[in-house]
Amino acid sequence: MIVGLTGGIGSGKSTVLKMFESLGVPIYQADIEAKNIMVHSQEVKKKIIHLLGDESYQNDELNRTYIAQKVFNNKELLASLNAIVHPAVYKHFKNFVAKQTAPYLVYENAILYENKSEHLCDKVIVVTADLEDRISRVMKRDKVDREAVLARMNNQWCQEDKIKKADFVIHNSNLDELAKEVAVVHNQLLKANEF
Ligand code: ATP
Repeated sequence: MIVGLTGGIGSGKSTVLKMFESLGVPIYQADIEAKNIMVHSQEVKKKIIHLLGDESYQNDELNRTYIAQKVFNNKELLASLNAIVHPAVYKHFKNFVAKQTAPYLVYENAILYENKSEHLCDKVIVVTADLEDRISRVMKRDKVDREAVLARMNNQWCQEDKIKKADFVIHNSNLDELAKEVAVVHNQLLKANEF
């Protein structure tokens, strides 16, 4: 069973993911794998350079700032970039899934709904947190100002729309409660998998 994990910026997806991992659940981080593929797949790299130019890489490292600047506010370029990266990640993910023997795995994708990737998942968990908590946590983590966090939030669906589509909602207030909520969902998923 594939369980999607999503939620807005700073909601606590990575924190929740680590908790599932510590329960022995296999995890797949779409964003991290996409970045790996953009660096290590020669085929993908060639296509990105063709689309965005040589500056997309610096000494074989991804030039994230350059790429972000190129595709920010340019929907066509972003769609073309996604059309290169997404199929490669999809293929990699399918290989990962085929190797798993656990009852379920968690597939983390911050923009699962925005990218219409929920069809990959049997169930979806949405992580939520109070807006002010999310803002202050990201400001602290990324050392950015409030406006920068709000700008990133504006590119994502709002929490309420994600909640409407979710199978499970995990609210992240304090870490102890969060661990308990994760354990409850874990047990429900194990039970759901018995049938
Ligand atoms: P992003 O979408 O930006 O990748 P995320 O949803 O993965 O964020 P996390 O990175 O898990 O969110 O959490 C954001 C920050 O808040 C991290 O620094 C994390 O350690 C911290 N954090 C998460 N949950 C809590 C909590 N309940 N109490 C205090 N700090 C928290």
